[in-house]
Amino acid sequence: MNHESSSASVPSWRITLSDLDWDTEEEEAALRVIRSRWVTMGAETHAFEEEFAAALGARHAIAVANGTAALHLAALALGLGAGADVAQPAVNFVAAANVTALIGARPVFGDIQSLADPTLDPRDLEARLTPTTRAVVVMHYGGAGCAMDEIVALARRRGLAVIEDACHGVGAWYRGKALGTLGDIGCFSFFSNKNLAIGEGGMLTTGDNALAARLRELRSHGMTTLTWDRHRGHASTYDVTAHGFNYRIDEIRAAIGRVQLRKLAAGNARRRALAREYRRLVKEEFSSLLKSGWIFPELGAAGDEASHHLFVAVAPDAVSRQHAADRLRAAGIQTSLHYPFIPAFSAFARTLGESGPTAEADLPRASQFCRRVLTLPLHPRLLPGDVRLVLAALAAQS
Ligand SMILES: *Cc1c(COP(=O)(O)O)cnc(C)c1O
Repeated sequence: MNHESSSASVPSWRITLSDLDWDTEEEEAALRVIRSRWVTMGAETHAFEEEFAAALGARHAIAVANGTAALHLAALALGLGAGADVAQPAVNFVAAANVTALIGARPVFGDIQSLADPTLDPRDLEARLTPTTRAVVVMHYGGAGCAMDEIVALARRRGLAVIEDACHGVGAWYRGKALGTLGDIGCFSFFSNKNLAIGEGGMLTTGDNALAARLRELRSHGMTTLTWDRHRGHASTYDVTAHGFNYRIDEIRAAIGRVQLRKLAAGNARRRALAREYRRLVKEEFSSLLKSGWIFPELGAAGDEASHHLFVAVAPDAVSRQHAADRLRAAGIQTSLHYPFIPAFSAFARTLGESGPTAEADLPRASQFCRRVLTLPLHPRLLPGDVRLVLAALAAQS
């Protein structure tokens, strides 16, 4: 159920939560790099960045080691740190909140729109802004754009930076623009269960030349030239102009990422068709679920622009969620929880201290959602018959 173990138990499941859509193309890409004997920061990484930027219509794309590294560099490049409040949704993977705490800033958690739309509520967000709020992190839950028009307008009015945690939304669109290109910096993950899956990997996107230069500098020790440049004879020495990290991707991963990028649109379309099948069957054959209080958030169902990273159901209450998860497990169907309520994690109770929200009461919709949400299997290799099996297990009386 946790982030690291999503594929550890694959063999025992009849229907897995996610699956790698890999074949001989990914194998050949990796082999090509291994045989070339140039395995870090070279032609594959450069091509992956160029192709990713072109696919999204982004000016700059910067490949990194993982999505969390992307979020960390985004925060640092925007100058966030001690004394800054960073507003962000309480319903998110913990990475953005951890990064916020680790740079010495304070996460201020905002509530979600509703149980059917678990993205940041712009009105609630505005009410939580403080004189020291410097940035907003948004998260496009399930790969459907959150209320970006309202949030970006609010951020511009209040002089706040906008970081998009677009880890669910690779290859998704919002009013004609790619998710991750609507704010100041977009952050993507290519973890093994994401729509574009490498194993580990990530990407940053930005339209700002100075931010792009800063992100590249921080990605590689703050060094002014790279091994690649020196290898090509473009430079012989370097300066260190900032305290940076090694957050680079490697050539093997970049090559696999390029294959996955070519498959992305078809994979997202397949996910969309399966999400529609879930929705059709709920309405036509399993409406007992709706009558007993289950909610199926739309997550981009109306248009064809979402990436459909997740298909989630919201149980009538926490107890029925547990019973449903147990029923599905007994039927060999893997589920997950996206996500536990961040302010309730012990590390955040410590971080937030006395000034933190009395979590549940302060964030009523987010805390309800986190108690009741259940993530159902969705990936490009799922079959329509699998969707029926999942819903049948969900609807069966225990
Ligand atoms: C996966 C994910 C991350 C973290 O990405 P990693 O590549 O695992 O570091 C952050 N935010 C969200 C919303 C994610 O889904």
